[in-house]
Amino acid sequence: MQNKKIWLSSPHMGGNEQKYIKEAFDANWIAPLGSNVNGFEKDLEKYLGENSKVAALSSGTAAIHLALILSNVQRDDEVICQSMTFSASANPILYQGAKPIFIDSEKDTWNMCPIHLEKMIEEKIAKGKKPKAIIVVHLYGMPAKIDEIVAVSKRYNIILIEDAAEALGSSYKGQKCGTFGDFGILSFNGNKIITTSGGGALVCRNQKDKEKAIFYATQSRDDAPHYQHSEIGYNYRMSNVVAGIGRGQMEVLDDHVKLRRDNNKFYQEIFKNIDGVEVFVEPSSDFYSNHWLSCIKIDSNLTNINPEKLRITLSDEDIEARPLWKPMHLQPIFKKYEYAGSKISKTLFLTGLCLPSGSNLLIEEKNRIKKAILKGIK
Ligand SMILES: *Cc1c(COP(=O)(O)O)cnc(C)c1O
Repeated sequence: MQNKKIWLSSPHMGGNEQKYIKEAFDANWIAPLGSNVNGFEKDLEKYLGENSKVAALSSGTAAIHLALILSNVQRDDEVICQSMTFSASANPILYQGAKPIFIDSEKDTWNMCPIHLEKMIEEKIAKGKKPKAIIVVHLYGMPAKIDEIVAVSKRYNIILIEDAAEALGSSYKGQKCGTFGDFGILSFNGNKIITTSGGGALVCRNQKDKEKAIFYATQSRDDAPHYQHSEIGYNYRMSNVVAGIGRGQMEVLDDHVKLRRDNNKFYQEIFKNIDGVEVFVEPSSDFYSNHWLSCIKIDSNLTNINPEKLRITLSDEDIEARPLWKPMHLQPIFKKYEYAGSKISKTLFLTGLCLPSGSNLLIEEKNRIKKAILKGIK
């Protein structure tokens, strides 16, 4: 019998999603508003805690775009962004006609290096051009060194946008990722920790910002009986149908976090006696990762395997693995922009690999993965 493909991270339904969708159908609220949208926002606000006001949107990318607009980022402004990330963190900077400045990672969390960040800000201020915003990412669910990053953003009074697209359920010193910055963003794309098939959210610190985000996301309609517009509008609101999936998924979010964390332990167990392979783990007990994806780093001097060889070995067994994100400063579209740092993110890209991490992995599938890995390493 043919093996079923094992995906890197696939949707995992909890059971009640269709109930909420049926409610939307029964009420004929098949629109970008309605009780599922409001309910999903309430669920997220409750989950993130006190100072979070959430606007449900069509994607995480839309949420980053609106965060930049709410931060008043305009043409030729400069926005600092973590280099080691998915392109969706940086693309909205270009939508605004602004310029990204990329910052290297630090070794412990693979996220933005606070030292290079501060150095770059000081250089820019010396030249008379203070960056308008900072976009920090919690990559693969691992919280960034957020205390240091928040301190820098406060010291220089620069808006902080926290890309928590991969980090719903992660926390730092007990505080949830997405709640540290002036804005947080979440994604519910198909492969994320919970999914609405496609969707995202902007996490605001106050009701006023949330309302303004919803205003922009629904075509910036002025308060008038006719359609009147004084600002550019966007069609970025979440639909009431997919918000129903989100409500069902919120019921199982904590279970999914636990299952993904178990996956990470599973890989630690496999690799603990294998020289040259390191599983990406939390640097200290301050960090709590949802381990959205479990990743390894391979030192090819100590083992006969390299990331690409292992990826192909797994692929031959119908198991999906994937290289780490290729840093933005190495991407053709972003190459011409400024970069501060050395080679940490580049080295991670060249030596790392993401392994299957779905919360729906079965025991049999884990056994297949383990067998294939050990075959590849031998
Ligand atoms: C998925 C992701 C996004 C974008 O979210 P979408 O909902 O797919 O638009 C942004 N940043 C990071 C780091 C992501 O992984």
